[in-house]
Amino acid sequence: MTASQNPDPEWTTADSAQLYGINAWGADYFNIADNGEVQVSVDFDGKPVTVSLMEIVRGMHERGLHMPAILRIRNLLDHRVELLNKSFAKAIADGGYRNCYRGVYPIKVNQQCHVVEEIADYGRQYSHGFEAGSKAELIIAMAQLSDSDGIIICNGYKDAEFIELGLYARQMGKPCFFVVETLSELPIIIERSRALNIEPLIGVRIKTTVAVDGYWSQDSGDRSIFGLSTASLMRLVDALREADMLHCLRLLHCHLGSQIPNIRNVRSGVLEACRFYAGLVQEGAPMGYLDLGGGLAVDYEGARTNSTHSMNYRLDEYCANIVESICETLDPLEIEHPVIVSESGRATVAYSSMLLFNILNVSNTSPSTTTAMIPDECIEALRNLHAIQEMLSKENLQECYNDAVFYRDELRELFHHGQASLRERALAENIYLAIVHRIAAMLPQLKRVPPELQNLREQLSDIYYGNFSLFQSLPDIWAIDQLFPIMPIHRLAEKPERLAILADLTCDCDGKIDRFSTPDGERNVLPLHPLQPGEEYYLGVFLVGAYQETLGDLHNLFGDTNVVNVALNPDGSYEFAREFHGDSIADVLSYVEYEPKQLQENFRLVAEKAVRNGKISVAQRSRIVQAFRESLHGYTYFENH
Ligand SMILES: *Cc1c(COP(=O)(O)O)cnc(C)c1O
Repeated sequence: MTASQNPDPEWTTADSAQLYGINAWGADYFNIADNGEVQVSVDFDGKPVTVSLMEIVRGMHERGLHMPAILRIRNLLDHRVELLNKSFAKAIADGGYRNCYRGVYPIKVNQQCHVVEEIADYGRQYSHGFEAGSKAELIIAMAQLSDSDGIIICNGYKDAEFIELGLYARQMGKPCFFVVETLSELPIIIERSRALNIEPLIGVRIKTTVAVDGYWSQDSGDRSIFGLSTASLMRLVDALREADMLHCLRLLHCHLGSQIPNIRNVRSGVLEACRFYAGLVQEGAPMGYLDLGGGLAVDYEGARTNSTHSMNYRLDEYCANIVESICETLDPLEIEHPVIVSESGRATVAYSSMLLFNILNVSNTSPSTTTAMIPDECIEALRNLHAIQEMLSKENLQECYNDAVFYRDELRELFHHGQASLRERALAENIYLAIVHRIAAMLPQLKRVPPELQNLREQLSDIYYGNFSLFQSLPDIWAIDQLFPIMPIHRLAEKPERLAILADLTCDCDGKIDRFSTPDGERNVLPLHPLQPGEEYYLGVFLVGAYQETLGDLHNLFGDTNVVNVALNPDGSYEFAREFHGDSIADVLSYVEYEPKQLQENFRLVAEKAVRNGKISVAQRSRIVQAFRESLHGYTYFENH
């Protein structure tokens, strides 16, 4: 590496790790190798096995799988399922709890077949089940749990068909629960189970009054759109008793919202749920299952705080809090401990996927030349602007900045009125940029930075254009201001000297990322390396396994990305367990009801006509038609191979 490539010889991978916070949010799954590449690390019986992400990227290119791509590490998915089950098992043993834990994975969080399949396969040893919120998800759950005794929780609005499906699962011996969300579902459940002569397992979703921190605070509380009020709950109990089916009421469900950053909220929620549980037992329902929903957070920032994208607790504390809270409430009432059910989605799948993409281009605000010459004959404003360059010093920074803005604006005004030429305006903008860049460079030497100049470095940051679509691959950044860890996956032994925001391929002004989390808090710019000629620069967006893949849309008709599933082996080797090619242009066009064959035929006619009119030769026609066909069947993203 030449000196110019490494601007700071003292810089080490440890500095990069600190800068990007990878050891804080990476949960020991991700770290930086000595060669400056991010590696994924998996534990096999206490022995860590690592693979470089760049090595996987090279393997992908060899297989014709180009950027952008979603990379899933199967082992991480397995490890999360294992960790969740083992943590609850430990809390149960430590707390002397007299029942077990049964996890269910909410399919909506990532419905991709191979994700769900892996959770079913790996989770079998723990009887890990599924949560289904629709008929389609119930169908997935019933098929995937064919040889598992994991439970199925049916949430959401249920019609007669949904209920029949669930009853058939019940008839085949599956512990499949209908969670009543509104009273109107109950008559259908009663009627269908009588008609088919199959006893249902019934659960009830309650509204807790606990106010929760974080983005999903409205999923709980009085105004939550989900769950029964206490008055409705009593009507449900009475209706079941009247139908002689109170013995079918077996589960209480409560979901406080997703990504609960504060452990105090978890504790209050569980305590309240236990009161409801006890009340239903006292009403004569057999119960036996307490389902605490999702909400277990992911520390996207690695900050360990109760801010929206973080969490102030660890998984073992979460489990211990739940176990203790249940004992605390139910033991004095001598109520038997229920099976603890949780529906952790985000915490199960977030770590296993990352989005990888290359940078196509960088635009920066650097002046084209710092010693701009001005012609002898030129307008006053330009001359004044030029003079600022000469007198700029640490002592008069603020004054020079104000003057530079003033004369630049004056020149723009003159241009507007036809009194300055395009060339004069270009020169003025260039001198202005030279001045503000010099000012920005001097700022670190100041004891006190004037408030007006505090964001100057951000304002002058580069724009790195990434080969991805925010709307397709990272919808939550756009929709709910989600923060994900983002960093280069190589060159990390080299100091990243540029400050940048990221723009995607869509020509939409919302298609940008300008909020980044760092261990020191949120920033509007991300430090990155300058592009090297002839070399790709790769970034990774991490912890994107939850909620991103199916919420994505076809903005600007960018389609699904390539996906690879990689599995690491104990001997340090790894394999491409599965690979999926993303949408072709023909695929996305057919999603919006175009007929690719018809488009091709239309285009052939256009080309034929051009031949007839003497615009192109027959040979040119074949080349053009061929190019059209190849594009139609190509990737929707930028391809440079
Ligand atoms: C979305 C959802 C979940 C999953 O929540 P996470 O916070 O991702 O674990 C669980 N249960 C219900 C009812 C949900 O709606």
